[in-house]
Amino acid sequence: TTVLKLTNLVKSYDRQTTVLDGINLELQEGEFVSIIGKSGAGKSTLLRCINRMIEPSSGTILFNNTSLTKLNKRELRKERTKIGMIFQHYNLVSRLTVFENVLHGRFGYKSSLKGILGIYSEEEKLLALQILDKLGMKEHIYKRCDQLSGGQKQRVGIARALVQEPTLLLCDEPIASLDPNASKVIMDHLKEISQSMGITVLVNLHQVDVAMRYSDRIIGLSKGEKVFDGKPKNLTQHN
Ligand code: ADP
Ligand code: ADP
Repeated sequence: TTVLKLTNLVKSYDRQTTVLDGINLELQEGEFVSIIGKSGAGKSTLLRCINRMIEPSSGTILFNNTSLTKLNKRELRKERTKIGMIFQHYNLVSRLTVFENVLHGRFGYKSSLKGILGIYSEEEKLLALQILDKLGMKEHIYKRCDQLSGGQKQRVGIARALVQEPTLLLCDEPIASLDPNASKVIMDHLKEISQSMGITVLVNLHQVDVAMRYSDRIIGLSKGEKVFDGKPKNLTQHN
């Protein structure tokens, strides 16, 4: 099943420069796909155009047979819940606990921040707890996020995305701020998510070796153009 289909996606931030120059890309259910390319190639722009966090200049985005480019803001917000996003700098609310960050990911702030846990239902809390447990974070749920290591913060980021029950997970340089051990933990979790949950994972990486090890498929981006799209084993001749 096709989860995402990009057709002729173009992005210019200004008249002079085209950052994405007509990207065509189709992703299947449960695929693990990495985007590699030098700094400035357009990886982050491409990822952020998919959920219209950045507005593409032209082209179409078909997500599970819904054209995201045609939606108004309200309709888009609804579709976006099915597209999880993970960031290099985690984007957590540091003064809130792990549990609160994850619940907020799906259910939003229902009232003031004081006593935030009391406003969520038992089902909502159970789902968040199950996901945090799977990511090895159960013993940390009442810690504030600013007390966590980088690797732990990123696992909270993953949990916050998963609690929305997405079909597509977009990961923008998820291990760029982590040491090798924490990087391996995060990549192993992302791989597991694609394999056992059937979620399509699209991840920006600048480490080619990591992309080679984990990906079903690699997209090579250079100056806003797709210059490679294939299996890791076929990449070597292009380096
Ligand atoms: P990558 O993720 O591969 O490093 P980016 O998508 O971040 O690449 O950037 C691609 C190009 O777009 C770069 O030349 C960058 O300077 C430019 N760019 C990124 N964001 C903006 C912006 N908000 N305004 C103008 N130019 C931008
Ligand atoms: P990682 O390799 O995952 O980044 P660290 O070496 O940064 O791990 O952290 C190891 C342990 O130290 C973790 O259990 C984390 O909870 C704790 N820790 C890291 N930073 C802080 C901090 N600022 N305050 C309290 N505990 C911290």
